[in-house]
Amino acid sequence: MKTLIRNIGQIVSGDIGHPTLDADSVLIADGIITGVGRRLEDDADVVIDARGTTVIPGLIDSHMHPVFGDFTPRQRTVDFIESAMNGGVTTAISAGEVHLPGRPKDIVGLKALAIVAAKSYANFRPGGVKVHAGAPILELGMTEADFAEMAKAGVKLVGEIGLGSVRTGQDAAPMVRWAKQHGMTVTIHTGGPSIAGSNPITAEVVLEARPHVVGHINGGTTSMTVAEIERLVATDMALEIVHCGNMKTALHTLQTAQDARATSRLILGNDAPSGTGVIPLGILRTISLLAGVGGMSPAEAIACATGNTARVYKLNVGIIAAGREADLVVCDAPVGSVGTDALSALAAGDLPGISMVLIDGKITIGRSRNTPPAARAAEVVTGAGHAGAGH
Ligand SMILES: [Zn+2]
Repeated sequence: MKTLIRNIGQIVSGDIGHPTLDADSVLIADGIITGVGRRLEDDADVVIDARGTTVIPGLIDSHMHPVFGDFTPRQRTVDFIESAMNGGVTTAISAGEVHLPGRPKDIVGLKALAIVAAKSYANFRPGGVKVHAGAPILELGMTEADFAEMAKAGVKLVGEIGLGSVRTGQDAAPMVRWAKQHGMTVTIHTGGPSIAGSNPITAEVVLEARPHVVGHINGGTTSMTVAEIERLVATDMALEIVHCGNMKTALHTLQTAQDARATSRLILGNDAPSGTGVIPLGILRTISLLAGVGGMSPAEAIACATGNTARVYKLNVGIIAAGREADLVVCDAPVGSVGTDALSALAAGDLPGISMVLIDGKITIGRSRNTPPAARAAEVVTGAGHAGAGH
């Protein structure tokens, strides 16, 4: 099964070191990108005319709180992941299945939850989205054998440290070491508590714990101080900016990371579902914040939500290049924008309109039902398109 996307106006690579490509076509075979270039021709089964619009990698939400399936008990909402796919999200990473009613906090229970979450989302893609879940919340008393057992059963993540009884650097550090030894990627809550009963986490705790990711460096929802943020930018850890955080310190983090030439460590998450709600366009809105308000180049801001995150979590997505999984978003300036294409719309503070999403080379939607309408829309000109386009 081959798919050719041609007549692309601009391709955003997802690689922050080289954020746009000199190409107008993408060729896909069996779900994998096989060619990116100018005027590629192929007797593909499906040919998509991008009508001069922009193709970007499918967005990665680095901070989602799924539970099971496409339902969130936190906001009593169904199909929120499919709704995020209509906002360009093709991969989501769990920061912990914390909203499970009656979530077990004993060690056998928390391991079981992580294993079931990892395995169930490995078998089920809501709306086509690749959900990486099974992110245990660390509790006191865990041993290296617990991490070995979870890793063997398919657990690749550790959820936000600090939401359980492990809340000091001293308690967290050995567990982070064990998790790393067993191949897991580790994140940590930072800033004030998200809900009554959980704990504030300071930069001091993060520096002692040494996770891979500084979770919601701009707060989830209450931020650390700017001095703490600056200390953490000056490390080698990934720096996660979230939609459901403090917008002022999000921009301070961006500025500090730009000054430190550390923008390749910025990753973007939604931190939803949460008390803030369910926000299908949260990742697009965070890209818009960095580009439209923060002044970052739109293609670099997109790389923060794609290639940067893929590198941190070792995923074969997020970059438009041969050999990568073909998760792609076709977008344009929305109708009525002062922007003339997706990138100039973002620079102006608008959200692009999505006209097509592909996951593993398969069209999952035509026009998004959540973004404003794209001024120009991609169209299938050969072969079968998606039956139910957006509405
Ligand atoms: Zn948090």
